[in-house]
Amino acid sequence: MAKITIPAANVSYDVSEGDTIARAATRAGLGFPYDCNVGECGNCRFELLEGEVTYLRENPPAINERDVQRKRYIGCQALPHGDCTIKVPLRDNFKSKFIPARTSGKLTEMIDITHDIREFRFALEQPNGFLPGQYGLIAAPGVNGARAYSMCNVTSSGEQWHFQIRRVPNGKATTSLFDQLKVGDTVGLDGPFGMAYLREDAPRDILCLAGGSGLSPMISISRAAAASEALEGRNIHFVYGGRTPRDICGEEMLKELRGFGERIHYTPVISMTDDPSSAGWTGKTGFVHDVAENMFGEKIAQMEVYFAGPPLMAQAVMKMLIKAKLPASQMHFDQFY
Ligand SMILES: Cc1cc2nc3c(=O)[nH]c(=O)nc-3n(C[C@H](O)[C@H](O)[C@H](O)COP(=O)(O)OP(=O)(O)OC[C@H]3O[C@@H](n4cnc5c(N)ncnc54)[C@H](O)[C@@H]3O)c2cc1C
Repeated sequence: MAKITIPAANVSYDVSEGDTIARAATRAGLGFPYDCNVGECGNCRFELLEGEVTYLRENPPAINERDVQRKRYIGCQALPHGDCTIKVPLRDNFKSKFIPARTSGKLTEMIDITHDIREFRFALEQPNGFLPGQYGLIAAPGVNGARAYSMCNVTSSGEQWHFQIRRVPNGKATTSLFDQLKVGDTVGLDGPFGMAYLREDAPRDILCLAGGSGLSPMISISRAAAASEALEGRNIHFVYGGRTPRDICGEEMLKELRGFGERIHYTPVISMTDDPSSAGWTGKTGFVHDVAENMFGEKIAQMEVYFAGPPLMAQAVMKMLIKAKLPASQMHFDQFY
């Protein structure tokens, strides 16, 4: 056990064995800034004033030469060796409603959604709730470093966490999950994390934009928004992009929601129109951000927008939303890597 002190905020908290400085802060109820939790984004950077730190993930990609010179570390991967004193600006919006906890999950069911997306359902050893749109860390068997995956379900008990995961060719964690994991097996789980959760206090129409691996959090948000009394009567627009028709999914899940076809609208989009398997496609074509811009134009600035997917898609969506003058407070996403 190590004690971390943040003098500027006048707080100290404990970090237990194997835990990191940023994750333990969130468990202590502090608003330690972070985003991806896998050492890629660098939002959890802090300055080490006293003490010693090593890394869970060797050389986290977010770290640079200046960080090393200025004794700055990546909090989500930083393991304290003894007590430390650090400098970091705490922010209330990073406080977690459900305190993240390390537990394990038993795989109860797997459901294939497309040729490369599968839903993995886990029963938690210690149930914990989460907000729709949040993610957990899964320690895939035999893989170094837990990966982030967003939950697709909505739960009040937190007993089950369901993840829709896209297989990455030669990806370490996804190969382990898809090819090795069997019903009844157990994996390490940690969470919930993430700030891109449904804002029930924002009474606007909702736009969910997703591509590939971004399906899961957008399904969770849509499910919760459809059931929310506070959002009663609001439209939910779900635009989902894939390369070819075999990538397209999500509609069946939305069809189960009350209001589908009335206030819940689904628009699939494919980008590889030249592919032979795309022949006969009569739906929208192009990229999700362009299709959304064409469909909603200036109305976007009045919507609450959630998006998730591969980094290139997310960057294009963000650019489009900024051009559409969407206030930052109405834009919700976690960076995927
Ligand atoms: C917030 C967030 C939410 C996500 N939600 C989903 C989702 O709902 N569905 C989905 O399909 N994908 C999701 N992803 C992507 C997912 O986390 C993986 O990046 C993806 O499945 C590829 O993993 P892989 O190990 O198979 O591929 P690989 O190519 O082997 O690994 C790439 C990923 O693993 C990370 N990584 C590599 N080494 C380490 C290490 N030692 N410690 C920690 N991380 C390491 C990299 O940063 C990169 O993200 C999410 C990512 C983030 C950041």
